[in-house]
Amino acid sequence: MRYDFQNIYDNIDDNLDDFINKYTTSVHIASDKNNRKSLECYRTIFQILNTVFDDQKIIEKFEKLTSYKIELETPYGIMVNEIYWLKNIIISNAIEKNMTSDIIKILQLFKDITNSVAHIYLLEYVDKLISMNNVRRSSLSDLNEKNLVAHYEVHLIWLTSLAQHIRTKDKTKFPELNHTLCDFGKWLHGDGKITIQNNSKYNSLNNIHNKLHIFAQKIYDSIEDGEYNILITYLEKCELISLSIGTELSLLDQIIINNKITKDTLTGSLNRNALKDLFESQYELALATNNNFVLAMCDLDMFKKVNDTYGHVAGDQVLKLFVQTVQKHIRNSDMIIRYGGEEFVIILPTVNKKNGYTILEKIRQEFEKAELSFNEHTIKATVSMGMMEIKPEKIFKKRFIDEYIMIVDKNLYTAKDNGRNRIEVY
Ligand code: GH3
Ligand code: MG
Ligand code: MG
Repeated sequence: MRYDFQNIYDNIDDNLDDFINKYTTSVHIASDKNNRKSLECYRTIFQILNTVFDDQKIIEKFEKLTSYKIELETPYGIMVNEIYWLKNIIISNAIEKNMTSDIIKILQLFKDITNSVAHIYLLEYVDKLISMNNVRRSSLSDLNEKNLVAHYEVHLIWLTSLAQHIRTKDKTKFPELNHTLCDFGKWLHGDGKITIQNNSKYNSLNNIHNKLHIFAQKIYDSIEDGEYNILITYLEKCELISLSIGTELSLLDQIIINNKITKDTLTGSLNRNALKDLFESQYELALATNNNFVLAMCDLDMFKKVNDTYGHVAGDQVLKLFVQTVQKHIRNSDMIIRYGGEEFVIILPTVNKKNGYTILEKIRQEFEKAELSFNEHTIKATVSMGMMEIKPEKIFKKRFIDEYIMIVDKNLYTAKDNGRNRIEVY
């Protein structure tokens, strides 16, 4: 198709600068090669738009631009937004120049451009999803103990197959669309129903899994239409739901694991012997389900003084009180582990730094307020903590527990140095 928008701008440079500054993620002064190239692409696109041109010529430029944008990790939505603003500029110029008969053409051209860009993004997304799923599956296979997440593994195989079918636009041997008949669905509606005893968790899993299959059906229905932006949106939905299925199952698994571990006889917290395994399995689970988690080291303040003033029996009661306080604020899938005498490790799966801090702060404050009646005495104590959020990455797999403990320990000492009864965040 041939287009003729000659002299659509009064001044290309002004229009270009305005567009770049206001509506794009590209910047004028940047050393990044891809950024520079994306700017050059936009300049050429502006110039082409001002001439007589074939659609293929401009679409090719947009395809180049897209490859630079992907290198720059510009999200699809942002890229589409840039194209949308460019279209608006061209349309408003056309109106000003009484070129209104060209508007339908402009709309058609930009629809084609957007779709070509979407196609590139889709293929990129599919490849990324497949390789991420491989990482997720390898994390799951590294787990010593798999309970419910074993079924997440079969679900990931299903999701990978869905992505592959999008790439090939192939409707034959399509992954199972009925949510009760896919491998995960068969389990969920069979043994899973019995195993997951928490009713509301079961229902929410069932609901989101059902929804996932509705989106998969939509993908199936539109796979041959060539509307790539729609496929991106549905695939994103499918991935997001898949991750939340993984998250729910990993939390349920963590409860099963926690229940099996021997407890510290004094406080009822988890035994230190289990720490390394707990940490490593949490790391793999988090990696497989795209979650971060929080690690904290707690140490009671001036605890020697409690012992010296009221005796060790009273000290023991304070230790129990601390663990009870923590347990009030954490979920069954969270972990409190007695690390040493009056030192405890807390692990909070699927929690980020901000929320982790909020939870730990509540624990710190409540413990500060708590009073222990012992003989005729009222005993009060406080706790200091060091915490960090851990974002698992495949390449750091070897960098295990001790290194992280050293980091939170360092923060704990900072908390002590800064006056105790506080939390220091890494
Ligand atoms: P800081 O604020 O610097 O942590 O001061 P602290 O007195 O707590 O320091 P430190 O770590 O030296 O003291 C820990 C004390 O905890 C020493 C030990 O007697 C006591 N402790 C360790 N395990 C137990 C236990 O099981 N029961 C009781 N009652 N006390 C314990
Ligand atoms: Mg100590
Ligand atoms: Mg102490």
